[in-house]
Amino acid sequence: MAGESTDAIGGDAVSIVRKDFAQYFPLMKIAIITGGNRGLGKSMSLHLAGKGHDVILTFNSKKAEADAVVVQIEKMGRKAVALQLDVADHKSFKAFSENVKSALRDNWQRNDFDFLVNNAGIGIHASFMETTEEQFDQLMNIHLKGTFFLTQKLLPLLKDGGRIVNLSSGLARFSLPGYAAYAAMKGGIEVLTRYMAKELGARRITVNAVAPGAIETDFGGRAVRDNKQINEFIASQTALGRVGLPDDIGGAVASLLSDDSGWINGQRVEVSGGVSL
Ligand code: NDP
Repeated sequence: MAGESTDAIGGDAVSIVRKDFAQYFPLMKIAIITGGNRGLGKSMSLHLAGKGHDVILTFNSKKAEADAVVVQIEKMGRKAVALQLDVADHKSFKAFSENVKSALRDNWQRNDFDFLVNNAGIGIHASFMETTEEQFDQLMNIHLKGTFFLTQKLLPLLKDGGRIVNLSSGLARFSLPGYAAYAAMKGGIEVLTRYMAKELGARRITVNAVAPGAIETDFGGRAVRDNKQINEFIASQTALGRVGLPDDIGGAVASLLSDDSGWINGQRVEVSGGVSL
């Protein structure tokens, strides 16, 4: 009996120390961020590293940018690995998941990771009447099919209790001429997000969509950043009076992936400074 009570006290003490430890030193998580070499994905990678996490970031063609983000994260005292991935090449996903497995084993001695952010993407501006089937297919392959089948392939490596964030867009809520095909893919991603959340709940995996407003990146021919007229127009339509910056999104995604946001599930979170309210 005496032994039992000592064990119980010992157990409590261990759990109190663990809770304190987790509070002051949140456990390191590993995030996979597609398109983590530039724009919004780069900011997400740096914000997560700033919160003490490690990152596997992917690039499609711009390896130098990816290597530079890895160096930046290492300077922050965290670990990062850059892997090539074309999210439109669905047949390559099996090989990519093998590369992820090797990276996890070699760098972290782990078989799983914690967060997946489906961020990589392109924009194509064309009116509904002028959008070609090729443009439609390109957008679908990258955004909707890419998100669907990449997640499917990586799920066996995602830890139970892990998190998924899919990138949508403000354009899935309001309509701007020239984005019918792009916005339709993002709308599909929002529906997919709810279905994923429903089915993956059994594994305690949360799935949310983050919908940025217009942000100053290379996206869409750099129009938001470099075209003064477009920039000013969007700012005038935004409650906070300016267009978004990459860190507006990187910070929001990192906080959505924090322990404090673990009960947010199956939601569309718009991060736009209040555009077109
Ligand atoms: P950027 O143009 O700045 O960066 C695009 C990123 O996606 C790069 O990392 C690029 O890799 C990667 N990428 C592009 N095509 C592919 C592909 N076929 N396979 C793999 N990776 C690819 O865009 P943002 O950072 O601005 O956009 C990121 C996400 O946010 C996208 O999903 C976009 O739709 C969404 N979004 C952006 C908004 C904005 O105003 N910026 C607004 C709303 C949503 P690489 O450098 O190697 O080419």
